[in-house]
Amino acid sequence: MPPKTKRKADTPEPDGSHASKKGRPDLRQPHPNAKQAEEFGIVLREFYPPEMSNERCQAYTDGDLERPIETLKKACQETADKRQALDVGSAVVHWFKSDLRLSDNRALFTAYQTAKEHQVPLIGLYIASPQDWTAHSTSPARVDFTLRTLQRLQQDLGELDIPLYMELQENRKAIPNRILELCQQWQAKHLYANIEYEVDELRREAKLVRLCANNDINFAPTHDTCVVTPGQLASGQGKQYAVYTPWYRSWLAFLKENPDYLEVSEEPGSNPGNPRQQFKDLFDCKVPPAPKTHALPDEEKKRFEKLYPAGEHEAMQRLNKFLEEKGKNYEAQRSMLPGEHTSVLSPYFASGALSARTAVATAKRINKGHLDRYDPGYITWISEVAWRDFYKHVLVNWPFICMNKCFKPEHTNIEWEYDQEVFQAWCDGKTGFPIVDAAMRQLRHSAWMHNRTRMVVSSFLTKDLMLDWRRGERYFMENLIDGDFASNHGGWGFGSSTGVDPQPYFRIFNPLRQSERFDPEGEYIRHWLPELRDVSGKAIHEPYARGAAAIAQKNGYPKPIVDHAESRTRALERFKSALQK
Ligand code: FAD
Repeated sequence: MPPKTKRKADTPEPDGSHASKKGRPDLRQPHPNAKQAEEFGIVLREFYPPEMSNERCQAYTDGDLERPIETLKKACQETADKRQALDVGSAVVHWFKSDLRLSDNRALFTAYQTAKEHQVPLIGLYIASPQDWTAHSTSPARVDFTLRTLQRLQQDLGELDIPLYMELQENRKAIPNRILELCQQWQAKHLYANIEYEVDELRREAKLVRLCANNDINFAPTHDTCVVTPGQLASGQGKQYAVYTPWYRSWLAFLKENPDYLEVSEEPGSNPGNPRQQFKDLFDCKVPPAPKTHALPDEEKKRFEKLYPAGEHEAMQRLNKFLEEKGKNYEAQRSMLPGEHTSVLSPYFASGALSARTAVATAKRINKGHLDRYDPGYITWISEVAWRDFYKHVLVNWPFICMNKCFKPEHTNIEWEYDQEVFQAWCDGKTGFPIVDAAMRQLRHSAWMHNRTRMVVSSFLTKDLMLDWRRGERYFMENLIDGDFASNHGGWGFGSSTGVDPQPYFRIFNPLRQSERFDPEGEYIRHWLPELRDVSGKAIHEPYARGAAAIAQKNGYPKPIVDHAESRTRALERFKSALQK
């Protein structure tokens, strides 16, 4: 049988349609709810095409459409001979993206080794793209954290005589050509970077591989951000896992068979060559300011600097402190809302100030060398970090989730609500459900939220309010300091029961039960809702129904905007009817 050739992603058929090889009619036909979704601010049409059809998603799942990771792989393979024949030039460049650290950074260390072998200087490069931040709904808190992390990175690199050249590039599409231009200017013929798995990024990297090769520059990005490389874990039938538990078993088995995947990469040493002479100006480069669209007000900036000091040294300190002081109790305490029982390392993972490999390797070491035996606290924490890998593996294999689609196409049939006022009440923490409101206020104040309440508020938005999950997904990205596409999409898929390995749609979180269970004394609620600080006892969980209506009313705390039991029935009906279609 001849090998199956795939259509290149986004290449229309001669008639302009996107019919698959199986003769599906028009894969570009937008989904029926696309218009409402667009009006509600879900598909950012400034950057992206209309919501794609379910058929087109299926074509990705069936392998009829080329996945962006395959496009990148092909670009690397087809340019390999040419790239490998290239000499080193006058410098080696490492392009930093979401890997803002020196330690355990695979591409950076390889870049350093190349520079050392040929005794030429190593240059660090970072290109900030406001347009990328807008297209990806990156929050000002995350932009600020990135810029602060760059400051620390520049200092650390400077101590090794490695310059970090940074610039703002407004037009994101211009980035590949700008990188080429810079490499040519520095006469660098070897460019290194770690792969980012989101669709735009994979396509950009594939383009850059070819662009570089055509201009005598060797560029082939490296797998680094996941502990186990996406695509490496397949079920007995050779399929990618869509359920976490078997995937996790396979992840553990893989790491036991391949312990080198947990080997932490060395830091670069002192810059070879003569960088302070040859590239003197690059050492004077300043961290670009946040563009107006993504700048934090001064007061928030100061607050976030205190809450989340930037850089890899802070990340390592937090990791060690957390594992020593809280790791053992993690399994028992991690869902409790008062106090801090989790690591709050997510901003550091998202910016790449900390690698997941380092985190898992450190936890394993403290856990007497085990990943899944010995102390339940460490085992559970490792399994949580593994969720991060899981969601990135899902993204690579089902790239359409990056295109405003949920994992299971049949879930796109759910009839959602698109009520702006109701959505705003959720954003403002004014739904009248104290646990939900406390969490939403925590998000607004801290740009972070506890995992338990992320589940509660996502379930509330989608089941109690029946609002389209994608609006909540976007709001999270616009506000979280740790906004990470794959984990956020995965979390929203879970909460709304539309995703990979979701909570079954009929198991709807009851906000009251969640509140009583995970904030039994109401400390978390009182902390975030000043209106309810004077409410005592169990009334804190539902003030209007438990005798605290007068206080709540006096302080302007709203009555519940929906009745949970009624909303639950509505959600069950909507899901059932969608899945029967
Ligand atoms: P810890 O409990 O200390 O766990 C350590 C690390 O493991 C985390 O930092 C994170 O990298 C990883 N991790 C833990 N739980 C998960 C999980 N369920 N999914 C993926 N990774 C996990 N996480 C993000 O990093 N960015 C997001 O944008 C994001 N959005 C989410 C949206 C929703 C609706 C939900 C339900 C979850 C989301 N998560 C997201 C996952 C999780 O809530 C956070 O990673 C976690 O709360 C971060 O706190 P921590 O660092 O103290 O976690």
